[in-house]
Amino acid sequence: HIPKDGEDSIFDKIVKREIPSTVVYEDDLVMAFRDIAPKAPVHILLIPKNRDGLTRMSVAEEKHKAIFGHMLWASSEIARREGLAEGWRLVINDGPNGGQVVYHLHMHILGGEKLGDFNK
Ligand code: 5GP
Repeated sequence: HIPKDGEDSIFDKIVKREIPSTVVYEDDLVMAFRDIAPKAPVHILLIPKNRDGLTRMSVAEEKHKAIFGHMLWASSEIARREGLAEGWRLVINDGPNGGQVVYHLHMHILGGEKLGDFNK
């Protein structure tokens, strides 16, 4: 389901605490919480709190450049807080072929073990 502008996504409901989650990082712009079905010992989802049209990576516009910069910085901060000094991975799934399920842009922070091959 692709949420229309003004309609809450699952992740908007997490931001509003209507759906519970384990929050690991939050500031004015972004929120990060543990994935409900972790694919690695550490699996965190990082989202913009205001979707602002960003259902998926491929619809990004000029106006979104700042939030992407902030999200990349926040991913690094979260990885430090999670103790992922041995390395970790940042993933964005886009659209059906990319395996995207939730249409509110998000980055996956994966780590806590030696990760497997990228595209498997
Ligand atoms: P996608 O495939 O869209 O990139 O990833 C969506 C991710 O969101 C999946 O890894 C899935 O496990 C996670 N997810 C879906 N619903 C919820 C939820 O209600 N709470 C949390 N914490 N994660 C969710």
